[in-house]
Amino acid sequence: MPDLARCLAEAYDIALPHRGKGKVADYIPALARVDPMRFGMALALPDGTLHVAGDADMPFSIQSVSKVFTLALALRRVGTGLWDSVGREPSGSAFNSIVQLESEAGIPRNPLINAGAIATTDRLIDGRDADVVTQEILDFVRARAGDDGVGIDLDVALSESQTGARNRSLAHFMDAFGTLRHPVETALGVYFRQCAIAMSCRQLARAGLFLAMAGRDPLTGEQLVEAHRARRINAIMMLCGHYDNSGEFAFRVGLPGKSGVGGGILCIAPGQGSIAVWSPGLDDAGTSLVGAIALEHFAYAAGWSVFD
Ligand code: GLN
Repeated sequence: MPDLARCLAEAYDIALPHRGKGKVADYIPALARVDPMRFGMALALPDGTLHVAGDADMPFSIQSVSKVFTLALALRRVGTGLWDSVGREPSGSAFNSIVQLESEAGIPRNPLINAGAIATTDRLIDGRDADVVTQEILDFVRARAGDDGVGIDLDVALSESQTGARNRSLAHFMDAFGTLRHPVETALGVYFRQCAIAMSCRQLARAGLFLAMAGRDPLTGEQLVEAHRARRINAIMMLCGHYDNSGEFAFRVGLPGKSGVGGGILCIAPGQGSIAVWSPGLDDAGTSLVGAIALEHFAYAAGWSVFD
């Protein structure tokens, strides 16, 4: 049994010299302002143990990592009917790409690209008020993090909306095909706020544990999604979690993961634990460059892979 605390510390040290590489997301000022030298890691184990390194307690914008939590909630609420609105194939395209939507009749490839996440959020709304649904997502994330301090950065949410022409285009395009069940602005009102949830690595690693433990939060004992659904969420993360860079991430890390343009990555080791990393410099696909290096080394040192 490897010493996991040591594996984490080693991965941190190996990735540390790469800080500052990559490009910090700059489409909104609130993200552009973040210090590119920040780097944190946290490892959550099912017995409640947490190992941390670097800036593990500093909140960052989780952005697209939020899509995993919304997917879990939507599957729980609408079940397999969700797959009427969104597929589960890798897209091989950028996170905000519109090209496939036209040829595929307005059904987005998967729930982890922007179009698919908007469609998933739309289904989660299920006739309810946008504020109620946003609060449901936040409450779920807070409960998983075991920390009511998790919040939504409303400046980020507002800027997302003000610069949201691309996401609006995706939503209107899907609306034209009849994919969305609610007004575009209702779905986007929730989507922009879920992307603006701010969390630390410590909170995020803890929040991912239910996906590592067959849908059951090992610290509260609650079965949050059925085991087969947790498996499928992990499968989708593996194949689609990094957009057109998902194959590279699977090759290097070998674990399901989800990136966000805030520089966070949530990585799930089924049966073992959950790892969150954060460093704002991104590769071309919008995955944290330092974060991916750290995860690659951690997974290798720990001997964690879904391909054994
Ligand atoms: N809020 C971002 C967007 O919708 C999220 C993208 C991401 O993190 N990849 O464009």
